[in-house]
Amino acid sequence: MSDPATSDAERKMQFLYALRSKGVTDNRVLSAMEAVDRGPFIKGLFSERAYEDMPLPIACGQTISQPSVVGLMTQALEISPRDKVLEIGTGSGYQAAILSKLARRVYTIDRHRRLVQEARSIFDALDMHNITAITADGSFGLSEQAPFDRIIVTAAAEDPPGPLLAQLKEGGIMVLPVGQSDAVQHLIRVRKSADGLEYDELRSVRFVPLLEGLGKDG
Ligand code: SAH
Repeated sequence: MSDPATSDAERKMQFLYALRSKGVTDNRVLSAMEAVDRGPFIKGLFSERAYEDMPLPIACGQTISQPSVVGLMTQALEISPRDKVLEIGTGSGYQAAILSKLARRVYTIDRHRRLVQEARSIFDALDMHNITAITADGSFGLSEQAPFDRIIVTAAAEDPPGPLLAQLKEGGIMVLPVGQSDAVQHLIRVRKSADGLEYDELRSVRFVPLLEGLGKDG
């Protein structure tokens, strides 16, 4: 039988190799992704596949994103340690956990109460005390904590939601997928400056849609 300690180390090396080969080259992002085990964020049948570079199903019919997409979005945000970050679409909590290693403060919102509760208990178990998880419709942002240095949306809207653009600090960056949910979506980065908004398109992606209101479970 193989030594489980060795195979864990090998799996981690393969995980990091997959990230690098897909373009995640920022060392701070790679260290954060090395430090956060994806396993606890995936429950049940699929937990064995936690270290493969693929999206996987989670509760409430949602998906945890592919690690390389998490890495590329995080890298595109250019987070610095003083930043206050807003994430829309907590899902499993994995992306928020990566952000928490890089930023000062992370607020994450999901429309499914159950996902928020499950993510909160993982953050507590992992001693990640700089994350606040909230059940709400994230399209409206979080005005009481605005403005944010960085905003990441992990569900696709047809256009960047106005309240999120408004809650981005001058000098801030927002990364989000845009496009119709059943068509090709584009990952875009928005930079806000005194002169206005500048957009660049990063790659094509596929995310679940950004929906209105709260999920059925609350
Ligand atoms: N970032 C997550 C994956 C997100 S999947 C992770 O790391 O696992 C997309 C999530 O967006 C789903 O959990 C879905 O419930 C949530 N979502 C969709 N529309 C939303 C909205 N308007 N406000 C908040 N969350 C929303």
